[in-house]
Amino acid sequence: MMGYTWLFTPHLWGSHNDLAAVRSFWLSRRGGCERSAYRRHRAGAQVRGHRRSGDATGAADGATDRRRVEARAAGAEDVGGSAGGGHVRDRCGSAPRRPARHRRREITRLPHSAGVAALHSPHTAITDFVAIAQRIAEEIEAAGGRVLLSTTVTGVDRHLGRIDVVAGAERHTVDRLVVCGGLESDRLGELVGGTAAPRIVPFRGEYMSVTATKQDFVRGMIYPVPDPRYPFLGVHFTRRVSGGLEVGPNAFLALSRQAYGRLSLSPRDLGSTLAWPGFWRFAGEHWRTGLTEIRGVLSKRAYMKSAQRYVPDIGVADVTRSHLGLRAQAVERNGSLVDDFVIQQEDGITSVRNAPSPAATSSLAIAQHVVDRIEIAV
Ligand SMILES: Cc1cc2nc3c(=O)[nH]c(=O)nc-3n(C[C@H](O)[C@H](O)[C@H](O)COP(=O)(O)OP(=O)(O)OC[C@H]3O[C@@H](n4cnc5c(N)ncnc54)[C@H](O)[C@@H]3O)c2cc1C
Repeated sequence: MMGYTWLFTPHLWGSHNDLAAVRSFWLSRRGGCERSAYRRHRAGAQVRGHRRSGDATGAADGATDRRRVEARAAGAEDVGGSAGGGHVRDRCGSAPRRPARHRRREITRLPHSAGVAALHSPHTAITDFVAIAQRIAEEIEAAGGRVLLSTTVTGVDRHLGRIDVVAGAERHTVDRLVVCGGLESDRLGELVGGTAAPRIVPFRGEYMSVTATKQDFVRGMIYPVPDPRYPFLGVHFTRRVSGGLEVGPNAFLALSRQAYGRLSLSPRDLGSTLAWPGFWRFAGEHWRTGLTEIRGVLSKRAYMKSAQRYVPDIGVADVTRSHLGLRAQAVERNGSLVDDFVIQQEDGITSVRNAPSPAATSSLAIAQHVVDRIEIAV
């Protein structure tokens, strides 16, 4: 039986009141800060593109949202309202706080924002993750490792004291294997002998780019109050390292795990989603949200309507459709969405079955956690 580790994924708003929360809060905190440290001390001038925004703000626009903000600010454990003693931290470990009334606009530097309540996360920042990944790859190669791109792993064979990995035309022998497959993590997990659940259901997230004349309307990041029923953050405003301003992403079922076109469809991936009982249970429970989301997929106006609750001065004429991301959302057989990290381990193979956002932020800390577990398992 594989070991099963559940680690809570704390976002700006996240909170659970158990030991796993403490551990994963630490992971996330270390992740954010280690990534900054990586940028500063190791990558040096070769990794550019970190923007210290210090302005992530969760904004609310209704009575329910206001209650959730109050609950967050009070450190309450449950976004649904019940009291508790959970952790409320941003990704660098600082508690987001209510800005003093007279400092709100100055702190957030968001004169075009609207809302009835907000929390301010002073240390949130954004970076160029591609540059970081490229730099890590260079360090691996400098240390004598190999990075094989565009090489699909098709087989893993366990033998006494060794593991054979078939990657492209080559067979590699290793003594320990760590599998991080993202959108393919369920298939790879099964390939190495893991459980069928959770199954990955892909969700697409579309972004809009804000026209240059209105990019300065938002100088940091503005997040909506998240809906506690979903692990998605909701459509938010992000100021990119390059200076551009983006709105998004939304969340709607993707018909392919690999292709990033708006109309892309993979019969195999769609079949895998439809064959999973958990998908139907999820769809049966959340079809109303699905209808709302599909309006945003079909219509820019509907998409921007939700974003305009926070920044009314940026409208449909100020944005163009931009790129699309694919989320690997793990769904249990009972239809629940898994919003924690899931790491399984057996016989020298560690399988990261679910690594949702902020797994990129936390990637160095997750890597350290995996290495520690491998060493313990030796
Ligand atoms: C739109 C969007 C916005 C996001 N924003 C944030 C954010 O702001 N902050 C944050 O921390 N996280 C964010 N995330 C989440 C973050 O990208 C993921 O949590 C993280 O990338 C997960 O890492 P992973 O290693 O599990 O998977 P991935 O990063 O997807 O990596 C998996 C890799 O495995 C490869 N692979 C798959 N199958 C095979 C195979 N058979 N053989 C060889 N290789 C294979 C894939 O090609 C891929 O390169 C965002 C995600 C999306 C979609």
